Amino acid sequence: MSSGMAGRFWNSLTFRLTLWYTGLFTLSACIAFLLFYLFLTAVIRERLDRDLAGQAGQFAAVLREQGIRAVEEFALIEAQAAGEKKVFYRLLYPTGEAFSSSNLAFWRQIGISKTAIARLLAEGKPVFATVSPPNRPEQVRVLYALIGPAVILQTGQSLEEDSRLIAAFRRVFAVTMVLLIALAAGVGWFMARRAVSGVEAIARTARGISGGNLARRVPVTGRGDEIDGLAATLNAMLDRIEKLVTEVREMGDNIAHDLKSPLTRIRGAAEVTLLTARSAAEYEAMAAGAIEECDRLLGLIDTMLMISRTEAGVEKPARERIDLAALLREAGELFAAAAEDRGVTLETRLPEALAMDGDPRMLRRLLANLLDNAVKYTPAGGRVSVGLTAREGVAEVTVADTGSGIGAADLPRIFERFYRCDQSRSVAGTGLGLSLARAIARAHGGEIAAASRPGAGSRFTVTLPTGVG
Ligand code: ADP
Repeated sequence: MSSGMAGRFWNSLTFRLTLWYTGLFTLSACIAFLLFYLFLTAVIRERLDRDLAGQAGQFAAVLREQGIRAVEEFALIEAQAAGEKKVFYRLLYPTGEAFSSSNLAFWRQIGISKTAIARLLAEGKPVFATVSPPNRPEQVRVLYALIGPAVILQTGQSLEEDSRLIAAFRRVFAVTMVLLIALAAGVGWFMARRAVSGVEAIARTARGISGGNLARRVPVTGRGDEIDGLAATLNAMLDRIEKLVTEVREMGDNIAHDLKSPLTRIRGAAEVTLLTARSAAEYEAMAAGAIEECDRLLGLIDTMLMISRTEAGVEKPARERIDLAALLREAGELFAAAAEDRGVTLETRLPEALAMDGDPRMLRRLLANLLDNAVKYTPAGGRVSVGLTAREGVAEVTVADTGSGIGAADLPRIFERFYRCDQSRSVAGTGLGLSLARAIARAHGGEIAAASRPGAGSRFTVTLPTGVG
């Protein structure tokens, strides 16, 4: 493994997750073992203390019923029966002086504690102590108890067996811990790999996409977990980006196309004039044609810029108090002549006045685009109706016609820049009118919608907050 790869491994999420899992598991196992260990030692100690106290009770009974000689003998017999290396008995005066004992060959180092005797006499309750005699590996549990009015029993029991049990427990604990840690590390690694594999798949796809393949998508496993949520979000984002990129590409193509045709026309006219014509009138006609084409081009570029700036919020609408009804009336009058020329009836149903806060220049443009389309796409004998209503702070402008209508497949796309329905290709237009109308409506905090049935006509509805309480 190279040093870079090794560095990546130690920094990897898989490694850190495994480390955390193993660490936490080991810590919990240690706590569990420690609690069990404390519990075990406490139980062993309690059992031993009960044993010793029980024996003191027996000694007291023997003393009460049979006298001191019998107690001395009882001590010898009991020590022999239990094993003289395991237990010893000493009988003491309250002064702490021993007057009898079992065989003490193994117990010489265990002295008589003056403090324990003082406590015993003061409290009247048996006193326990744990002693570690020099030269002996195991500890000894010692009990001082009053078994008669002036007789103290000191008895001790070796803790060797208990120590062996606890040592065995420690060994089992050590071995089990090593196995458990290895197991925890294995399980932790497996779980971390599973958790991280989704993220790796996403990273792989992202690398593929950076390589230029925008059509790739992150795999969704269907488990419905967080990684799936991330994958779905990323895919949705990629869908949007892909759509945007396609749109930008199409727009680029459209712009190039829309600029190319008039430029070709200007160039063609100039060439023909140079090659053939000589009279000043012909040069003038060519210049006038060129100016007209250029104006059209500049208009197109202006509209494009206006849409972009309005959508981006650079071009903010003015907030002037205006009369929307008057604006509509004005627009109606403006298109009356064009409608009449085409044999189309234009009718307006407007209130006296409708105040709202907005940009008159932009709104005029919006209304003009809608009316222009309605008249343009309605054949002779048709009708265009313009209406205006208002309720709860929202003005609703409707421009309805009995024209050609828009197909269901085209309807969702007519507000896109440069989009023109196939059937309209013969009619002059840029495909920008409705995009600008929507940008203006939205800049005013409103919206525009279209409903249409091919052959039956279309209805455009613009909702605008009036901003007037
Ligand atoms: P254009 O310059 O082509 O009119 P628009 O953005 O104004 O561009 O409109 C986009 C397309 O929507 C038009 O090409 C036309 O096909 C369709 N359209 C818009 N208004 C109407 C209408 N009132 N009736 C039928 N079709 C319409």
